Amino acid sequence: MTDKNKGNILHVIYDILLGEFGHMNWWPAKSDFEVMIGAILTQNTAWTNVEKAIDNLKTHDLLSFEAIYKIDSNLLKEHIRPSGYYNQKTLKIKAFINFAKKEYNFSIDLMKKENTYVMREKLLTIFGIGEETADSILLYALKKPVFVIDAYTRRILERHNIIENAFKEKYEHIQRFFTANIPRGKANVSLYNEYHALIVKTGKMFCKKTPQCDDCPLKKLQV
Ligand code: SF4
Repeated sequence: MTDKNKGNILHVIYDILLGEFGHMNWWPAKSDFEVMIGAILTQNTAWTNVEKAIDNLKTHDLLSFEAIYKIDSNLLKEHIRPSGYYNQKTLKIKAFINFAKKEYNFSIDLMKKENTYVMREKLLTIFGIGEETADSILLYALKKPVFVIDAYTRRILERHNIIENAFKEKYEHIQRFFTANIPRGKANVSLYNEYHALIVKTGKMFCKKTPQCDDCPLKKLQV
């Protein structure tokens, strides 16, 4: 298959998934700050566990830069315990909060005004923030045109022979494959938002370790 055709498949996949599931309206959070914390908490765990940790933070009025900046790490650890890996995640959240204070004085507006590439590079210097987490923050909290690549994306691309050995492929290569075919630009922020959400939905429902192709909307693609 030529690269051009492979690129077209990305549009076909999007149309099929949007037609099947409709708009996802992601991220499942009430504020941009909640998105940022959720993006860290969701590492290596199911979203239901993240929700419990977020609920704890909400109940104790801790969903703000200032509140998490002030809270003792041991206490924060207890609140986010349901999300798993809570020792590491406490360090990561504290590191992110300290970064936001030092660089942007806790202003999400200033973070949104930052150049996308500069912001991404800065996020990647923070302890515990990898590419997927950084891009989730950029896209879903800061509304930047950055495509998020996760394990479900790799799995679907690999199983449909769109990218061979997608799990071994560099993150940036897969990301570039999407952005080359669905150009960056403010106009595509909502499309990037929807597309990743639709991929996650497909992965959770059908493209599991053992794929359930018979019921999957993407079964009409040539596998
Ligand atoms: S479940 Fe099957 S049809 Fe659906 S995305 Fe995965 S490999 Fe494709």
